Amino acid sequence: MNLIAANFPLRPAWTEIDLGKLRRNLQLIRADLPRAVKFLAVVKDEAYGHGAFDVARIAIEEGAWGCGLSTLEEALTLREAGITAPLLLLGERQEAELPWCVEHDLTVCVNEPHTIRKLARVAAARNKRVPVHLKIHTGMSRYGVRWDEALPLVAQIVAENALQLEGVMTHFSQSDEVDKSFANLQLARFHEVLTALAARKISVPLRHACNSGGFLDLPHAHFDMVRTGILMFGIFPSTVCRQIPGIEPVMSVKAKIASLQKLKPGEVVGYGMRYTAPSERRIAVLPIGYGDGFPRVRNTGCALIHGKRAPLIGGIAMDALMVDVTAIPEAQLWDEAVLMGRQGNDEITVHDIAKLKNSVSYDVLTNWRLRLRRKAVNGDTRFIRALI
Ligand SMILES: *Cc1c(COP(=O)(O)O)cnc(C)c1O
Repeated sequence: MNLIAANFPLRPAWTEIDLGKLRRNLQLIRADLPRAVKFLAVVKDEAYGHGAFDVARIAIEEGAWGCGLSTLEEALTLREAGITAPLLLLGERQEAELPWCVEHDLTVCVNEPHTIRKLARVAAARNKRVPVHLKIHTGMSRYGVRWDEALPLVAQIVAENALQLEGVMTHFSQSDEVDKSFANLQLARFHEVLTALAARKISVPLRHACNSGGFLDLPHAHFDMVRTGILMFGIFPSTVCRQIPGIEPVMSVKAKIASLQKLKPGEVVGYGMRYTAPSERRIAVLPIGYGDGFPRVRNTGCALIHGKRAPLIGGIAMDALMVDVTAIPEAQLWDEAVLMGRQGNDEITVHDIAKLKNSVSYDVLTNWRLRLRRKAVNGDTRFIRALI
């Protein structure tokens, strides 16, 4: 049974993905970048919870060179859905994954000799010459070969006929804070490698280092391409980085009022009786809870209803949360509430939700659960294909 094709009724709690705003953000990013600099649309983890397929499709329409992904499965899913642009796998590859990468024309990041040798063998066996990007660690100590040990790998790649050194890349530990000293140290180390490559007359078409923060604040590190993730979704990586006017959040989280209750003074609400009514109150139940990714808070936060703030009361349940609508008498059953996003003149931002769970915007965006269906608006598809 294909529930989406059957026009299955949407649950009264959902994430809303504004594809029009996504497209506009991409256009603003493209317009802000020098013409010669390409951009990679980073759509790992279902495009930070926005739905990888439609984000990839629109990003490519708006000029992205290709898409960045983390896992083999993510990349194959996009290939299967018909995305033919370059797909760069940013994470690490196990040996068993390499034949799949070659078969489906996925671009692999490499940083150690064994994978390079195996990949070359697999490519040669299929009569293919495959592009690779050499990942260099310049101080983050995560993936990548150390900057001062990179040259032997370059030599190894160049010596393999079945491989083409298409890219060299690095990644910043901190690009969006006021203090750029560590980013500039990393950049100097990256330049050491590039200088050594130039001295050996090895030209690499795609040198790249910047994520969204670097794109905004480190124009001297743009090189040939930037890798934008969170900025496409209208979220600035920090409050102190450069802001591009007009960029707007793409995702909202909404629910409809599923029940209304009247409380007499002294009556309590929810599991653990965490809220006691100080006076007569009117409360609304929203059918969304920690099982949907809403932070498990109590008596903090709010929802927007009729453009007004309704405070959360009591503890959050798996499937429900309660808000006080005493001051919003017009609130009726099945009226729309906004848990994250804009309603009227007010807005609950991703950062507000991040504060509730003591985390960051990236974590909030990627942690809405899939049982909250994604409803695409202002685009040409009704649902982002949440289940492919
Ligand atoms: C996730 C990721 C990005 C995108 O980062 P944003 O801060 O979301 O722009 C860029 N490069 C690499 C290697 C990544 O893993």
